Amino acid sequence: MKPSAYLLLLWNRTTRARQVGRLGRLCFEPGFYLYVGSGGPNVLKRILRHMRSRKPARWHIDHLTAGPGRMRFVDAWLLPAMPECGAADSLAKRLSGVVGFGTSDCRCPSHLFRARDISELDRALRSALPTNSSQRYRVFTSFAE
Ligand SMILES: [Zn+2]
Repeated sequence: MKPSAYLLLLWNRTTRARQVGRLGRLCFEPGFYLYVGSGGPNVLKRILRHMRSRKPARWHIDHLTAGPGRMRFVDAWLLPAMPECGAADSLAKRLSGVVGFGTSDCRCPSHLFRARDISELDRALRSALPTNSSQRYRVFTSFAE
């Protein structure tokens, strides 16, 4: 099975400063955050890990999804036909990215993007997600903890 890209949607209620590994202490403004990652055969396991609030910090994104004051998990999509960096590139055309976030293994400026509100998020998702529904799979929809 080839790697599958995925997209996570997180919601940040208030301005928060978080230590993000070597990137240092970063300030995250309120809004929606879209994170692009990829996983192999265990991509669903990876997404479930992102949803867990307790885990050791291994990737940049773990610093935003774990512990008190974490961002809330909203949704996730699997994008099996789309290269991870291609998805990041599409989002970068619409949204501002957190420089260096999630890009330890590639040359993209960022793999984490912020939408200030629902209409900005909607426009970005419409342009970045594949329009063919057989090329995208919704993983989960919930505002629950
Ligand atoms: Zn990339």
